[in-house]
Amino acid sequence: MYHLELEKVRDEITRRGARRVLLQLPDGMRPFAYQMVKALKESTGAHIMLSGDSCYGACDLASRQALEVDADLLVHYGHAEMVQERDVPVLYVHAEVDVDAVKLVEEATQFLKEWNSVGLVTTIQHVHQVDELRDELRKRGFEVHVGEGGGKTPYPGQILGCYYLTAQKVMDDVEVYLYVGGGQFHPSGLILSTGKPVVIANPYTASVTLKTEDDLMQLAKKRMAEITATRNAKRIGVIVSSKPGQGSLPIAMELEKRFTKKGYEAVIIYLDEVRPEHLNNVVEPEAFVNTACPRIAIDGIMGIDRPMLSVQEAEVVLGDRRWEDMWGQGYLG
Ligand code: SF4
Repeated sequence: MYHLELEKVRDEITRRGARRVLLQLPDGMRPFAYQMVKALKESTGAHIMLSGDSCYGACDLASRQALEVDADLLVHYGHAEMVQERDVPVLYVHAEVDVDAVKLVEEATQFLKEWNSVGLVTTIQHVHQVDELRDELRKRGFEVHVGEGGGKTPYPGQILGCYYLTAQKVMDDVEVYLYVGGGQFHPSGLILSTGKPVVIANPYTASVTLKTEDDLMQLAKKRMAEITATRNAKRIGVIVSSKPGQGSLPIAMELEKRFTKKGYEAVIIYLDEVRPEHLNNVVEPEAFVNTACPRIAIDGIMGIDRPMLSVQEAEVVLGDRRWEDMWGQGYLG
């Protein structure tokens, strides 16, 4: 399904005269890894290595690994440009997936027909078809709004799990969003960021479903409970990730200072990947504040045995924000 764009990668390796290349693939592409390495080796003569660690998003660029293996080029698949290039040049390949826009919009229309004004959003895999999807919606009489790209999402209509700028840009004009893509992760984030209902057209399962704020009520209760528990804690662990697009040491240091001023005992915990087996051994803090990916705290990771808040939620504990001003209106920052 993916456009592997091996010619583009080959041309970039050749243009740069790269002799050693690190290839970073998201999980969904790893079944093709050996074929890709073989094809690139044969067409360029370069030494191609695979990055074997997790890759959660554009924030998770293997730039440090590329430096460690002395690569001349890092090829990062599946995400758009987000992190500033570091010591090793990076080639981003979006790994586009084509959808049948006519069929998809036709099926989504069954759900969308009670509204007039639709905001169109999608992931990097489908942004190349945004114009086509918009045209199909317009043909069926909908008023369609696609937010211009910007910040961490350079393409019109593109969203990330932690960043919904293109959706927020048009939120005053739309009654409902049409999300084209897989899973519930982005639709949940979209509701947390806008409060609007989302029709999910999933091209991978050929299904269309509706998700609304009501579906997130369990999550809302859980978030409030964790905020209350953190308010009553004495010791706080402030987590910072070393991942290039997640690291926020200055924010963590600021939070450490603010919690300390309010009488908490706060300590920064610096790590690469936020995992239960790392944190659960740090038994002294009664709660964590996570400055890395905000979705880890909100709905991401099972098995962490204490409450974990996002930066925004921590500011509720510190008395600098009101929870009700955030829910459904930029909860992810
Ligand atoms: S910070 Fe989290 S949600 Fe944002 S791109 Fe990275 S993994 Fe995805």
